[in-house]
Amino acid sequence: TDPRTEVGQVGAALNHMLHHVGDALARRQEGEERLRHFAADASHELRTPVATVRAHAELALRHGGPVPAEVRHSLERIQSETRRMTGLVDDLLLLARLDAGRPLAREPVDLTRLALDAISDAQAAAPGHRWLLDLPEEPVVVTGDEHRLHQVIANLLANARTHTPSGTEVTLSIDEMPCGTRELSVTDSGPGIPEDLVPEVFQRFTRADHHRSRAAGGTGLGLAIVLAVVQAHGGDVEVTSGPGRTSFHVTLPE
Ligand code: ADP
Repeated sequence: TDPRTEVGQVGAALNHMLHHVGDALARRQEGEERLRHFAADASHELRTPVATVRAHAELALRHGGPVPAEVRHSLERIQSETRRMTGLVDDLLLLARLDAGRPLAREPVDLTRLALDAISDAQAAAPGHRWLLDLPEEPVVVTGDEHRLHQVIANLLANARTHTPSGTEVTLSIDEMPCGTRELSVTDSGPGIPEDLVPEVFQRFTRADHHRSRAAGGTGLGLAIVLAVVQAHGGDVEVTSGPGRTSFHVTLPE
């Protein structure tokens, strides 16, 4: 046969295949888009009923008159679990919004002030830990979403608190690199993240000890949120961990 015919046939077959791949990709993108919207809608819809259940448990506890100890215990369980659920739903909603590429605020944010606030909150929540700050003399400012960046620091400090024993030293430091990149690090002297877990810590619902983490109020979404928020700012997060030292490094562009 004429090689030109063969080349033509191969070309036509390739074209056909590419067409199918294109179709499949478009369908998949549509599916992912729908899934992202579903996740955002579902978490949004869950907020109100959870808040209502929680409010009723609180009302019954406060104004329900004397109740048997078991009933009180049940109401308190409803209260604490719905509080946890509210946190979970809020975290899921935020992740769904970030997945959907919702734009964040873009305003000048003084990282040094956020760090001071976050450390004083941590100090109040866990006075048994040793909280240290290592800040440059000048304020370090980035362009971004103040509320979300505060959450990044708070989540990292919350982990340094809940996954380490009292007395652990935790240092929050901020640096401005010569290239203009801003670096924020949280380093603790705790037991470290189990080695096999390190590559997965930023995935959703990854936890070393499910029960202990739950009891500590964790949702397993803290680090997923840290990474998603930082990446939405054009930055990145790295972790190094071993016994006696765990360090999270966040880099952010100017
Ligand atoms: P959680 O709500 O469980 O804290 P995260 O996503 O914030 O969820 O963290 C995931 C897991 O990574 C934690 O459950 C814990 O096992 C581990 N981890 C995170 N930070 C630390 C830390 N500073 N020291 C030890 N383990 C940690």
